[in-house]
Amino acid sequence: MSFQGDSGATPVTSAPPVAALIASLTREVADFPEPGVQFKDLTPLFADRDGMAAVTGALADIASGADLVAGIDSRGFLVAAAVATRLGTGVLAIRKTGKLPPPVLTENYTREYGPATIEIPAERIELSGRRVVVIDDVLATGGTIAAAARLLTRAGAEVTAAAVVVELTALAGREALAPLPVHSLSRV
Ligand code: AMP
Repeated sequence: MSFQGDSGATPVTSAPPVAALIASLTREVADFPEPGVQFKDLTPLFADRDGMAAVTGALADIASGADLVAGIDSRGFLVAAAVATRLGTGVLAIRKTGKLPPPVLTENYTREYGPATIEIPAERIELSGRRVVVIDDVLATGGTIAAAARLLTRAGAEVTAAAVVVELTALAGREALAPLPVHSLSRV
């Protein structure tokens, strides 16, 4: 599998087939959910046998060494759970606000299209010293993954990397997340 990342001195050059597969199976929707947003709908990619296998395999390569995979609500859950199964780790669902019963740890942040809040349980999950890779479908401004990293760090985890299927390079999420290593399977 090939992917792009910045964890080493030389980023790995992305090449087909995974990036091409992602591009060919992404549904591009203009002005959703708000005017000016070019939405990347990865539903067709995840519904495709080859697409899901390629994405999951590439992300599992990136996340190897993690002892917990965190997925962001809600499309991040799909890939994070599949990656965790491949790696033999657990998966931690980072939820949107109001989904989890208290007590919770909470982080507020700003997304490409407005403010948001994410949460994890504040009890019964031991995160101290855990090496966690955060996974989501799309990296835009980086606000969501930054908030997830803050949340996990507050809980005692070591966030070792972020991995996404699609990186929207114009929104500079990678720069916003520095020095956290960011890996993406395709950059547009
Ligand atoms: P951000 O916090 O700005 O990096 O936004 C990333 C989060 O918002 C991810 O959970 C994505 O699913 C979602 N998102 C933001 N922008 C887009 C987009 N243009 N297409 C699809 N999903 C997006």
